[in-house]
Amino acid sequence: MRELKLKSVAYLIVLLTLITSCKKEDFGQEANQTTVQNGESEIGGEITLYEVKGDKITVVKDYDVSGSDRDFQNDRDKHQQIWDLVTKIVPLSHRNKMDKFLIYSGQSSGTAGFVDPTSNDLSTWRMGIAIDYAYEGGFNTNKELSYTIIHEFGHILTLNNEQVNASTAENNCNGFYLQEGCAKNGSYLHTIYKRFWADIYPEFKDKHNEGQTRMDQFYEKYQDRFVTEYAATNLVEDFAEVFAFFVTKENRPSGSTIADKKVLMLYEFPELVNLRNEIRSNGGTRSAGGVNILPEPGKWRSVHKH
Ligand SMILES: [Zn+2]
Repeated sequence: MRELKLKSVAYLIVLLTLITSCKKEDFGQEANQTTVQNGESEIGGEITLYEVKGDKITVVKDYDVSGSDRDFQNDRDKHQQIWDLVTKIVPLSHRNKMDKFLIYSGQSSGTAGFVDPTSNDLSTWRMGIAIDYAYEGGFNTNKELSYTIIHEFGHILTLNNEQVNASTAENNCNGFYLQEGCAKNGSYLHTIYKRFWADIYPEFKDKHNEGQTRMDQFYEKYQDRFVTEYAATNLVEDFAEVFAFFVTKENRPSGSTIADKKVLMLYEFPELVNLRNEIRSNGGTRSAGGVNILPEPGKWRSVHKH
């Protein structure tokens, strides 16, 4: 599962949990053990599961919930409002990669969103959005929800079957091997690895093995390589964060840091530039119905802890 954490209170605990669960994919040395349960594997806090067809979602299952989660379950308008934002960020042309949509409560896991595959070949994915965080302080406060959705979409973009071959064994992988399988030669993840991670990867693995304090030191040492601290978690999170910056920042970065160069790298892919334009024109501009769905640079960072 690829997730985006949000809450500072749960930050350390969740981060430790994530690191534990991420060891295989980070180091890419173990066999692919992804368990696919058709979008119904438990993540904690499930409220309502939907099936996705184009622009529409239909309820597959209401989970047994109580208290505030029950209120969230009954408030279908809120589910739809979140989904409407997802449809503005994930273009229809990419929606066929998403067949499940989950509304859940993020409090137990401290996560704002996640994606996981619903098929063994990685051709379809579930996206989960934490409704409590989505409405904290009002809907999409500081465009944090927009940012979360863009980040999670970045995972689907890099981990789907066109990018990653789930059945290729590690010793036959000529790209970058991770938990989901072999990120193909020339794939987005393989490219970012070759250019920006290969030289520090042995050190990253060592620090990662040694725990959070070492990872903090790793980030401090290589801060100019990462757009956010969370990006230093691993290669996959790095790409998702770089993608979110690529989409949400109005202008190209200057290119003076390695973090900047990562964002500039995405401009080299015409299909990603098209995607960026499409997301921004679908509601990202101030002229689109007066609703700016994209985070205003600098604003979200003050509250977005993940
Ligand atoms: Zn993520």
